[in-house]
Amino acid sequence: MSEETTTIRPFSAASFNQYIAEHKLMATRCTRCSKTYAPPRSICPNCHSEEMKWVETSGKGKLAGFTVIYSGPTFMAEQGFDRKNPYISGIVELEEGTNISARITGLDPMKPNEIKIGTPLSVDFVEFGEGEAKKTYLAFRA
Ligand SMILES: [Zn+2]
Repeated sequence: MSEETTTIRPFSAASFNQYIAEHKLMATRCTRCSKTYAPPRSICPNCHSEEMKWVETSGKGKLAGFTVIYSGPTFMAEQGFDRKNPYISGIVELEEGTNISARITGLDPMKPNEIKIGTPLSVDFVEFGEGEAKKTYLAFRA
């Protein structure tokens, strides 16, 4: 067994992103009230406990809201998204009861009227770049 599997990573965005790179959508769960948070929280907003643990989510959820993005951040422009090729940014309500924002794939950003709130989604990991520059982004596929 490697060191990695036995070490508890800090409940931080950096750990969360490290898990994303490993194709795991992780959340933190409060050991006192069992509420689950993704992105992770180190202190429970519900009961203020600091006793959190990492749990892997099912990766399933539904679309709770979305926006079509025509002018995104640099890392999206680098992937070829622009005014003529928009993408969908959504809020996903996970089965675990927490909401997370992510890119939504498998739906047509050119036909936003056909996109339905409540559409079932599954986690997807989008990789971009080569070698050292390779990055993995969280997405959900309809
Ligand atoms: Zn709690």
